[in-house]
This record gives sequence, C-alpha cells and structure tokens, in this order.
Amino acid sequence: MEKFSQIESLLPDKKDISSILSRNVKELPSIPVVVIKLLKLTRDENYSTGDLVKLVETEPAIAAKVLRIANSAALGMRSRIASVKHAIVILGFAAIRNIALEASIYEHLVMPGGTSRFNRLFFWQHCLTVANLSKIMAGELHHPDPEEVYVAGLLHDIGKIILDVYGRITYRDFLGIQHKGHGLKVEEEAKFTGLSHDDVGAYFCHRWGLHESITLAVKLHHQKFSHLDLAERDGLLVAIISLANFIAWAQGVGSVNMLHHPILQPEVTELIDLSSLNMQTLISTMDNEVKCTGQFYNFTFPSNEQFRGNLLRANIDLSRINTEYYYQQDELNKKIEALISLKKSLTSPHQSLQSEEIIYNTLQAIQQDFKFDRLYVLQIDHTTRSLFSTQILDTTSPEQPLTEIDIHITPFLESFIQCLRYKSPACVRGNTTDELMVLQNLQVKEIGLIPITNNNQLTGIIGVDNISNGKNIELHELSAVTIVANELGMALENAKLFQAYKHKASIDVLTGLLNRASIEELLSESIRQAQNDQIDLSLGMVDIDFFKKFNDNFGHLAGDSILKLLASTMQKFSRPSDHIGRFGGEEFLFVLNNTNFPDAFSFGERLRREVEQLGLLLSKRFTNHPLTISIGITAYQLDMKTTSDLIGTADKALYMAKDAGRNKVVGLCGPTTRISR
Ligand code: GH3
Ligand code: MG
Ligand code: MG
Repeated sequence: MEKFSQIESLLPDKKDISSILSRNVKELPSIPVVVIKLLKLTRDENYSTGDLVKLVETEPAIAAKVLRIANSAALGMRSRIASVKHAIVILGFAAIRNIALEASIYEHLVMPGGTSRFNRLFFWQHCLTVANLSKIMAGELHHPDPEEVYVAGLLHDIGKIILDVYGRITYRDFLGIQHKGHGLKVEEEAKFTGLSHDDVGAYFCHRWGLHESITLAVKLHHQKFSHLDLAERDGLLVAIISLANFIAWAQGVGSVNMLHHPILQPEVTELIDLSSLNMQTLISTMDNEVKCTGQFYNFTFPSNEQFRGNLLRANIDLSRINTEYYYQQDELNKKIEALISLKKSLTSPHQSLQSEEIIYNTLQAIQQDFKFDRLYVLQIDHTTRSLFSTQILDTTSPEQPLTEIDIHITPFLESFIQCLRYKSPACVRGNTTDELMVLQNLQVKEIGLIPITNNNQLTGIIGVDNISNGKNIELHELSAVTIVANELGMALENAKLFQAYKHKASIDVLTGLLNRASIEELLSESIRQAQNDQIDLSLGMVDIDFFKKFNDNFGHLAGDSILKLLASTMQKFSRPSDHIGRFGGEEFLFVLNNTNFPDAFSFGERLRREVEQLGLLLSKRFTNHPLTISIGITAYQLDMKTTSDLIGTADKALYMAKDAGRNKVVGLCGPTTRISR
C-alpha cells in the first residue's frame, strides 16, 4: 500500500480558515520570520551552524536568552558559555536550535498576550512539558529523530494561541462557555470557534513549510489515525505526542487551568507498550528538564502536594463517570435486549411488495418479537381530523376480534399529538379526560404509539396494547419498535413506487389501455377462475375497418387519434370487472368476466353500433372514409385450456366478420355461430 502523502486532504482549506479569523490570512503577521527560519533549520544541512548563529544573533534579546538557558542547562561547566557558536559546540546544534525556538515563540507569541481565562504562561508550561516528555519517550521508544519530536510537542497546541490572537471567536471566548458544561473536546471547540485548534495549528504548520511529520502530529494529536496508513515513524510520533499530552494533563499541567481528561486514541496503546515505559523515571526526568526552563521563565511548577491534589480530583472525576456508566448499564442492557429481539421484525417489512401484505407481516413480526396483545395501523384523515385503523392484529379474541378504531383527534389527546407532531413514540396513559375516553373505548389502561415515517414524513401510526396480559408498556420497547416502523415506512413507499412502475409497464402509451402482455395475463387469470369457479367468461377481438386508408389519406396522427377515440369508447362501455387492452396495431381485446356468450355478443353489437354512430359524426373530418369496426366474439368452454385457444377463436370470428363485409360482429362458440344483421 502506498504510504500516506496527501497532507492537504487532512487540512482545512483557506476559505475555512479565513472565515474563522478576524484578519485576512495573508495579512497575518503569522509567526515571526525568525521562528519559521529556526523551525526549518535542521542539523543535516552543512551550513546550518553558521545560519543558526546568524539567526540568533540578529535578535539580541533572543541571543541573550539562549545564552542564559544554555549556561543554566550546562550548569557545572568550568567556563561560561559566551557565544552562540560556543553554545552549539558544547550543547549541540539541535539543542541550541530548540532553545532559540522556544525563546522566540515565547518572546513573540506567548508573552504579548494572555488573560486570566487563557493564561498563556500556563499554556506555555504545558507546551514545554509535552515537548520534554515527548523527547524523552522518543529516546526510549527509538524514534529516529527525538529533536523533531520535541518540536512537534512544543507546537502541538499552537492553534490555541493562533485562535486566541486572531480568532473571530477567540480561545478565551471558548473557555468562557466551559462552565455551561460543554467540555474541552475538540468537537465542541470546532462547533464554537468554527475550527478546532488541531486543525488551525496544522494548517499554519503546513503553511509555514514545516516538516510534514510535525504537521501530522499537530493535526492528529486528538484523533484516530489508524485509517491513514502513516509511515511508521509518523504513527509513533503522533502516539508519543498524544500520550505526552495525556500525561501532562493527568499531572495537572494542562494547557488551561481546568480539570479535563483528554481522550487517548486506541492507536496510542497499540503503538506504545505502556509497560515498557518507566513512568517514574519519565516524570522525574521531565521534572528536571522543565525545571531548568521553568526557572528561566519564572514558572512555579505545582508542588508534590498540588500534584497529589490534582490526581485525586482527576480520580474522583473519572470515578463519577464510571459510576454513571455503572448505573446506566441496567437501562442499557434492557435497550440492548429490546434491540436484539428486533431481528425478525426488522426484515419482515421487506418481504413483500404488496402494501397490505407488508403491513400484515410487520404487525405479525412485531407481535412475535414484543408480545403485544393487539396491534393496529392507524392512518390520518386530515379532513375529519381523525385516526382510523387500516389493519388490526388481535391475538386475544378470535371470536370477537377488534375490527375498527376511529379516534377523533382533540388538542387534549396529548400523547397522540406528541407522536404526530414530533414523530416520536409515546404512551397513552390517560393523563387527560379525552385520553381516558380513548382508553375506555378500547378497554385498556395503556396504548403505545409508534410513528411510521418515511423520509421524516409521518405516514401513519402503529398502536399497540396489552388488553389481556395487562403487561406495562415500556418506552424503550416502543423506541425499538420505532426502528421497525421506519423500515415499514420505507417498505410501503417502495411498494407504492413498485405499483406505479408496474402500472406504467402494463399500459399501452398511446391509448392508455392495458398492453398486450398484461391483457393476456389477465385473460389467463380469468380462464383459471372460469375453470375453478365455473363462471362465464367471454372474449372479443376488435379491428378497425380499412384503418390503413385513414393513415394513408389523413396522416398517422389522424390514425392515432382514431385509435385513442376507439379506446376511450371501449372504456366507456366496459364495467369495472372487464379488462380492455390493445392487442396490436389497430386490434383490441375485451375480456368480459362473468358474461355468457349471448350477452357478450350483445355487448359487441352495442359497441359496433356506437362506433358506427361516431363515424357518422366524424364524416366531415374523414370524408368518404366511414369509421367502422369488426368484432369477433367467443366464450370460454370446458375444452379451452389456454389464452391462445380463446384468442384464436375470437380471431377466427373476426376474420369471418371481415369476410362478411366488415362493420359486423361474428360470434363463435362451440357449434354456434352468430352474425349481426
Ligand atoms: P382491415 O379492414 O382488413 O383490417 O384493413 P386495415 O387497413 O385496417 O388493416 P391492415 O392490417 O392492412 O392495416 C393496419 C394499419 O394500422 C397498418 C398500420 O400502419 C396501422 N397502424 C398500426 N399501428 C398503428 C398506430 O399505432 N398508429 C397508427 N396511426 N397506425 C397504426
Ligand atoms: Mg383493420
Ligand atoms: Mg388489421
């Protein structure tokens, strides 16, 4: 797999940054040039010693600080370190570079501001602690570049300073809302200031051209990163910074003076074997390191007592969370049980595409999973402001099952209103007189209501009660059923769409009648019924006489209009139980259920005459082209097994009608032949 390389994809873009800062990004004095140059100087470059000397010496204040720190760090040296160059020789390039870096950040960014709410000195102390801790751990864990780890530690929270100096909403503002219980989480920070400090910090580190590893550590020190496929050294770097940050907070050296337990990403303990770290040595080494710098900056580090106090407070806080979790466990288990029992219910809505069947299956499955006595689906009638049942599943009384529910909605049906308005489950317990009436009518003490929704639209309600077993209805049960109700809503919508598509696919576009496939399917179904129930069935085939001439003389569109006209005439003539379809070109079929041969013949005759009349009306439009039709009729007989048997006979009768001079009806049924006069 290719190693991670798309650092930009992790960072906010310029627009996001601009929108949260009070000044244009370009105008930002950003970090002083000297700091950026220091950050970019690495000991690998041949000429870097000279550059470092030059850089430090251009700022006398920084040079003086570097020498002071260098002298106190090199305590016990016989001679004083008098020049930056000398300091590099004694303490090493990286150490002096880092001292210079610290001094410049302190001088340019930390010192200038700070309020009691966001105490920058306190913040700086945290940065130094994390930097030192990180560097020590880097050594123990064999990170290839502990000095780089140090810089990453120093800068990991730099976004907080940037937000504090340049944010439209400053870091101070964010801290100001903490008493309202928002917590120090980065998500909360992002909600409030627009971007969290890790994003802001990483954006600027990248902009300043710092090494990608440092940017990654700044960006990821509060986040999971296993999905990013970082190089091994970068993964270890992020883990070290996160752990150092955690240890610092746990010791009471947080970036703000507040009790907080940072979240430790799971990757940290996966990449760092905590048992391999000697925490005691780690902390005491850190203490020493920070003490040196601390003396220089006039920090007073927390005393032992203070540390113990901090630890105790942290422990009590953690234990409180633990205790809450312990008591929630019971409630949680109940919810989990209810969810596990959803197995059957969840899939049941999707096992059919027929609305009625979907609802029935779903009610059945919910009943089996949750053992309610009665379940009903209620629909809303907006005109009468009432809820009426469309399906009821009553498991208690096979002799006298509940058959109908009709509830007029009043403002006092509070639980119903809650379910309808907020689309949330509710329990009707009779808090108002109106509710009591509903309960009395249904002879129960409680009704559970579960909204059926689709795309957040309420499409109905599932009602449940325990009329016979008297079991209490629990809200967590209803919450679980809500998940099923959502599935139900979706399945019903799918069914509706499916029916619409099916309808579309079964229709002849020009005439709006059934197309050939569907009329044949319905004919086949009618034949089955005629066979099984011994009921009459007749079939007619209609063909327009000399239709081709209409097309030839008046154009295809005129021909089409005749087809449409005939279709609507046939529709007008038919009963709901009849099926009419277009068989092909200008041929139509009608299937007359429950109709015997003589009646079908009369029907054909009426239709023929009607078209003849229409033709007379149209004679002005189609001069010398009288519109007439020929019809072949047949009726089902015991020896007819398939659709082709009936259609074949009707077709034969139709040909006979044409042969007889057109504008005729011919009926063929067994030995009987009839022809219109
Ligand atoms: P007959 O009385 O023997 O039935 O003569 P006819 O002209 O009606 O029969 P024929 O089968 O020779 O011609 C049918 C014509 O119907 C031919 C074809 O172009 C036309 N036709 C088929 N489908 C359509 C259509 O969708 N629109 C139009 N305008 N014409 C169509
Ligand atoms: Mg024809
Ligand atoms: Mg024809």
